[in-house]
Amino acid sequence: MLKGKTALVTGSTSGIGLGIAKALAAQGANIVLNGFGDIEGPRAEVAALGVQVAYHGADMSKPAEIEDMLKFAAAQFGRVDILVNNAGIQHVARIENFPVERWDAIIAINLSSAFHATRLALPAMQKANWGRIINVASVHGLVASAEKSAYVTAKHGVVGLTKVTALENATTGVTCNAICPGWVLTPLVQKQVDARAAAGGISNAEATKQLLGEKEPSLQFTTPDELGALAVFFCSPAGNNVRGVAWNMDGGWTAQ
Ligand code: NAD
Repeated sequence: MLKGKTALVTGSTSGIGLGIAKALAAQGANIVLNGFGDIEGPRAEVAALGVQVAYHGADMSKPAEIEDMLKFAAAQFGRVDILVNNAGIQHVARIENFPVERWDAIIAINLSSAFHATRLALPAMQKANWGRIINVASVHGLVASAEKSAYVTAKHGVVGLTKVTALENATTGVTCNAICPGWVLTPLVQKQVDARAAAGGISNAEATKQLLGEKEPSLQFTTPDELGALAVFFCSPAGNNVRGVAWNMDGGWTAQ
């Protein structure tokens, strides 16, 4: 379905970003990977799906590096047809104790990076009259949790940015939507499970059970594969007139 198209997925060396990159690659899209840590493993996993894969190591907190990445993607593949703004980090602390440097980093990586990548990707999409911008927000773009001030602020901002991007392009073939996952067992959440186990002197399994039990009625993690399938839907012809939604995949978290 996406043969000949190019998808740039930020923060795609791990977790949800890698899951979405693989789902888009399985539909034939060439992929530009981004993110830190092991590059060769993710690159091989995506390449195994029979598409071309490129990698750019832009630090998503740095607008100049984001600009360089968009230029790189255009040079490699002609243009970016699908932009998935996914890179994100977390820090958990009460507001009065929240390190200012962590606040700035979360706003830059989880929110401002989506603005920069979007503003840089839009002109080519508008020219082609086809594009898909998918912002990986969170249930925390819709509701709050204590001790996540920067994250909740950034994710609510991402949902707002999604709506404005959708409206400004509503008469074109360029759509923008957000995905709002509940708990997904990735390194970002594993750190929260580990912290809970250490703080409570409990096992990892017990900490996981508590984490899910507090918020997610299904008591199940959403998986990167499921989120990838939703991203594929947004890119399909059936998604042509889906514009500005914040679609939660959260085991009932926000239905309560
Ligand atoms: P993860 O830690 O597995 O992956 C994060 C990715 O972002 C990695 O590839 C990492 O290298 C990259 N990254 C981090 N900082 C970066 C930077 N400055 N520049 C470039 N890349 C950077 O986390 P994940 O859980 O897969 O999270 C992906 C997205 O999903 C995030 O935006 C997160 O907020 C969101 N999300 C996660 C969950 C969850 O439960 N895991 C739930 C809702 C939303």
